Amino acid sequence: MEEMATGAYRSPTYYELSAPPGLDWRPYRPKSYADYRREWDRRGREGDPGGFPLHLDIDPTNRCNLACVMCPRTVYLREGRSEWAPGGLGDMDFALYEGLILGSAPLGLKSVKLNFLGEPLLHPRIADMVRLASGSGLWVMLNTNAQLLTRDMSRELLEAGLTDVFFSFDSPYPEEYERIRRGADYNRTLSNIRGFMEEKERLGKKAVQTRASMVLPLGGTEDTLKAKADYMALFRGMGVAEIGFGLPTEVGLDYSTLPGPDSFLCPDLFRRVFVFHDGVAGPCCGDWERRLVVGDAAAQELAEIWHSAAYRSLRAAHLGGRHKEVPACRACSVPYLSGLEA
Ligand code: SF4
Repeated sequence: MEEMATGAYRSPTYYELSAPPGLDWRPYRPKSYADYRREWDRRGREGDPGGFPLHLDIDPTNRCNLACVMCPRTVYLREGRSEWAPGGLGDMDFALYEGLILGSAPLGLKSVKLNFLGEPLLHPRIADMVRLASGSGLWVMLNTNAQLLTRDMSRELLEAGLTDVFFSFDSPYPEEYERIRRGADYNRTLSNIRGFMEEKERLGKKAVQTRASMVLPLGGTEDTLKAKADYMALFRGMGVAEIGFGLPTEVGLDYSTLPGPDSFLCPDLFRRVFVFHDGVAGPCCGDWERRLVVGDAAAQELAEIWHSAAYRSLRAAHLGGRHKEVPACRACSVPYLSGLEA
């Protein structure tokens, strides 16, 4: 993770306030972790895909227990669209997951994040997924809305080897939170997160990274500044290390209608692959609608996908300053948001 002088991390669509010394998990990680993050930054900066992806984003399920207002799933379900889930709702087959992890870990994969479109804790074997990846020597990350993060689930995940957990929690205020995160209960969610932090402490898992993040409205107002300060106080008070603020993406908006950069090198094309629950593989978090499919992990090795003609041509367009020739990239929010301040 690239540390800037301000103690914050900035990606095109997101910035994060790093942990203060008392909550910092980095000193408890081996040097190989810092080497991996340096390589992560280098690949994105230099546009070098290396021989194999560093990271896999896997969707254990495309089901979710909430219907958050800003989520593409919510919009697609409301509009009856199916391109994001052509086979309907479902969970990843464990054998597919096992093949991906066991086949990739020896080839240079360093980390896996268990989340894309759905809520990962809904997968009945989520703890086994964490255990397998951790036992294969990978850093194992997970985003969750924390609705199902009971004390038992927290303990099981931590004991299975979860290394990074990111809580999606969109407002420090109960009414606003429940308006955005439809179906969620503010107090129960906070109590679950508190329980996770206590289990982490009890088990002595000092190297585990925790982060709470919220999506901000574009353009800061005094209300936004106050919400950010209240949010920080809430989660830092619970011992959560990192505080993240994301920029919103409006589903369905063609961002090429807004002023954006003429050329854009999308860093994720050179370091990670996204695998939907059914095995279909895409290059980025911006393509929920599967317009940029680069392979199928149910039928191909990951190395083959990484060097596929589809992936190479996408990278070539970005490296050649022609990202706008790719319709999905031209309309994508990421190049546009990369020029804004969070
Ligand atoms: S759609 Fe294109 S520009 Fe957007 S995140 Fe994906 S690769 Fe990057």
